[in-house]
Amino acid sequence: MRERTDVATAEAGERAAVAGWVHEIRDLGGIAFLIVRDRTGKIQVKFEKETMDDALVAAGTDLARESVVRVTGAVEEEERAPTDVEIVPDSVEVIAEADPGLPLDPSGKVDAELPTRLDNRTLDLRRGEAKAVFEIRAEVLRAVREYFRSVGCTEITTPKIVATGTEGGTELFPITYFGREAFMNQSPQLFKQLMVGSGLERVFEVGPIFRAEEHNTPRHLNEATSIDFESAFFDASEAMDVCEDVVRVAHEEVAESCESQLETLGYDDFGVPDDEFPRLTYEDAIERINGTGALDEELEWGDDLPTEGETALGEQVGEHYFITDWPSEIKPFYIKDRDDDPDVSTGFDLNHPRMELVSGGQREHRYDELVAGFEAQGLDPEAFAYYTEMFRYGMPPHAGFGLGAERLVMTMLDLPNIREALLFPRDRQRLSP
Ligand code: ATP
Ligand code: MG
Repeated sequence: MRERTDVATAEAGERAAVAGWVHEIRDLGGIAFLIVRDRTGKIQVKFEKETMDDALVAAGTDLARESVVRVTGAVEEEERAPTDVEIVPDSVEVIAEADPGLPLDPSGKVDAELPTRLDNRTLDLRRGEAKAVFEIRAEVLRAVREYFRSVGCTEITTPKIVATGTEGGTELFPITYFGREAFMNQSPQLFKQLMVGSGLERVFEVGPIFRAEEHNTPRHLNEATSIDFESAFFDASEAMDVCEDVVRVAHEEVAESCESQLETLGYDDFGVPDDEFPRLTYEDAIERINGTGALDEELEWGDDLPTEGETALGEQVGEHYFITDWPSEIKPFYIKDRDDDPDVSTGFDLNHPRMELVSGGQREHRYDELVAGFEAQGLDPEAFAYYTEMFRYGMPPHAGFGLGAERLVMTMLDLPNIREALLFPRDRQRLSP
């Protein structure tokens, strides 16, 4: 690569060669400014028409916006320039000319609808706000990975093409695998459990999950990113402690490392959640939801919590909260029932006031009970033999959870739609780009 100066590091008194995009051209008559943008910021390039070569002035001011240029020259102090310095150029080279008919305005002066933004993500992420979301997302994933490593987890990668789904057939995308029926995996659940029984004991994965959900909501994707944790010798309460830490650490690290991005997004006070999230039982939750009068019909033990109910409860609680002690019948077969009451499960959810973020629990590690659980839920244990068999050879008690990365970012940044938290979202209509 040729020598290149990040615009944010250009210093008065030095020479610089910057390369980036034509953000704006301002022609004030005798003087014109070219604003060049790169990933680190923007810099002003000054053209004094009286004293400069006409060809150079033309090269630097007769440019379509968003063209890629390389400018070399002297960096000088200029207190009227947005960054207190400007470049007095001696050469301007057009590296890639842009078509002037831009599908969206990367300067952000003209708002674009979400579908237009998603169709043109390259241009969309030239806008500071959209770019900030993905820089923060990257920081969240870095913080999460580092946290998991600090508590002794090994990062794993499990298959996304599978013979059977986690919860058996529903919400799965079928594919053809060398003439056989296969599916895109909806969760690493069973594989991460197999690994807690391995020599690894404590694992995490950040990877895609695929759900053929038919509905179209602001919080569901058909391809999402799941942050999964699973540990041997943990119970549900210990998994909840980890879950709390992960959510808090992600917020803390963003607050600490993403100051400029948060400022771009308009935060002057970015909230980091408290250490301890309230732990409500399912029974408390339905009682409180019934108390809000948000639902036409009162909830009873065994009902799933409808979205409007969770919304009303979230408004009332006003912070992250757990729901524990769910009825066993509405939690999946791999979640362990409570020893003192088999009708109540060890499963838990963590909710942000706006929506569910996490589901987790202690797992059924006893072979006979696990197989019985499959049968009780109408699933054929034979189809899952690769999983159940390993429970015959020393499977420790274990617990864990799955946290939706896009929901974490979406709630952290108060984004109205989950599609804003993933570069190339997949939904019922959208398969490309
Ligand atoms: P919901 O009831 O909100 O549809 P779920 O209970 O079906 O979610 P789980 O199977 O418990 O989801 O998955 C664990 C976590 O993965 C969820 O709490 C959520 O954060 C995330 N997740 C699940 N499905 C999706 C999806 N379709 N789009 C985005 N995130 C998802
Ligand atoms: Mg769930």
